[in-house]
Amino acid sequence: MSETFALIKTEHGKRLQISGGLPAGFHGEQQGDTWICPLDEANAAALRRALPWTAPTTVGLRKSVGCGDRLGLATPGHILAVRESDMFPVFAQQSIREMVRAGRTPQNVMDDATWGVFEMDYQSGFGCDADHLKNTDVIDQCIAAGYIGFTLDPGEFVDNAAHIDTLAGLQAKFAALPWDDLAITPDDLRKRYLGGSFVGEITEEILLRAACKYSTAIAHVRHLSQRIESHLGGKAYDLEVSVDETDTPTSPAEHYFIASELKRLGVKFQGLAPRFIGSFEKGVDYIGDLDVFEEDFAAHARIARELGPYKLSIHSGSDKFSIYPIIYKHTGEYVHLKTAGTSWLEALRVIAMYDTALFREILDFAIERFPTDRASYHISADPAKISDDLMDVDLPNLFENLDARQVLHVTFGSVMTQFRDRLYATLEANDESYKAVLKTHFDKHIAPFQA
Ligand SMILES: [Zn+2]
Repeated sequence: MSETFALIKTEHGKRLQISGGLPAGFHGEQQGDTWICPLDEANAAALRRALPWTAPTTVGLRKSVGCGDRLGLATPGHILAVRESDMFPVFAQQSIREMVRAGRTPQNVMDDATWGVFEMDYQSGFGCDADHLKNTDVIDQCIAAGYIGFTLDPGEFVDNAAHIDTLAGLQAKFAALPWDDLAITPDDLRKRYLGGSFVGEITEEILLRAACKYSTAIAHVRHLSQRIESHLGGKAYDLEVSVDETDTPTSPAEHYFIASELKRLGVKFQGLAPRFIGSFEKGVDYIGDLDVFEEDFAAHARIARELGPYKLSIHSGSDKFSIYPIIYKHTGEYVHLKTAGTSWLEALRVIAMYDTALFREILDFAIERFPTDRASYHISADPAKISDDLMDVDLPNLFENLDARQVLHVTFGSVMTQFRDRLYATLEANDESYKAVLKTHFDKHIAPFQA
C-alpha cells in the first residue's frame, strides 16, 4: 500500500488527507494528487480496514480504564494520559441512555474514537464498550457498528423487593422462578449453594433472597449473551455484566451467587460490576466511610479472584479519588475503572476558560433544567448553593464545587441540545486546551493504579 494518510485542519474543520491514490472504500475531493476526505461514517469504516490499529481490539483481563466521551472530542486528551500508563484504554464507550441524550448513535461513538486514535497516531490498541445494554435490539445495533465489547445490564429484571420480602413471600417467588431458563431444579440449586463457603455460611434465607433478587436477571444475561455469541461466535470479544444500578448494594454472598450462576450457565464474562457499598454519585468523590468500604470491597475482590479471575468494574468511577488506592490494593491488575461524564465536565471547564458568556448561559440553563433532569440520577446537589455573582476568572473554580459539578453533569443532554453548535465551535477552536485539561484530569485517575 503506497497511500499515506494524515489528519489536517481546514477552515471547515478536520479532514482526512490521502496522498498517493484513493483506496477502495474512501471518498473525497481530489486536489492535485491528494484527496481531502470528510470524517464521516464511510471513511471511518474504510480507515479501520486500511489501518487496523484505528479499530477496537479486545481488552480481556488487562487492567483498564474506560474513557467515555459524550461529545466525541475527548479521545486525543485521553490518549495523552493513558499512553504514559500501563492501563489499557477503552475509548468507544457509551451507554445507550447517554447516546439518546446526546443525540448520537453507537456508530458515531465508534467513529469518533477511530478519528481520535488516528489523530494521535496511537497504535497501541484500544477497547470498546457498548455500555448498559438491556435488550437484543441494541445489541444488534452495536454489533453492526463494529463493537466487540459489551456491558450487559439486566437491572430491569432484578427483583429489588426480595431484599425485604418475608420468608413465605420468598418461598413463593423462588418456586415461580424461570427454572427452565435457569437449567436447574430448585433442589439442585439448593444443594449447590447451601452450607459453608468462602464468603461465609449461606443459609436458606440468604440463598432465597439472592435467587429471588437476581435469578431472573441472570437468565436475561444468558439470553443477551447468547445473542452476542450468535453474531460473534468464534471471534474474541469482551463481556461485562453490571448490576450496579440496583436499589441496594450487592452483598458479597449475592456477588458470589451471581458470578457462580453466570459461570454455571456458560456466560463468559471478563468483568463484573456489583453495586458497592456507599454512594457513587456522578462527578464527585466517594461518599461514605472508607473503612467500611475497604472491608466490603476486599470481600468482592476475593470473590472475583477465586471465581475468575475476572475484573471488578467500577462504574461511576470518575472522581472517586479517595477510594482508588483501596481498589488497587485489593484488585491489583484485575480492575476496570469506568468513567464517562467527567470528560463532559472538563469540556465545560474549557468553555468557562475561553467563552465566559457562553458558560454563564449554560450554567443558568443547567440550573433551570436541574429539577427535571436529575430524575434518573442519584445525586445530592443543591443548585441554590451555586454562587450567582462570580467574576469571570472564578468561573473555572466552579469545577471544584460538588453542587456545580453535579448540576452540570446531569443536565448534559439538555445543554447539548440547546447549545450544540456553539459548544462544538468553542471546543474545536480550543482543542489543544481540551486535550491538556483532560490529560491533567486523567493523570489523577490513573496514577493511583500504577505500581
Ligand atoms: Zn453503570
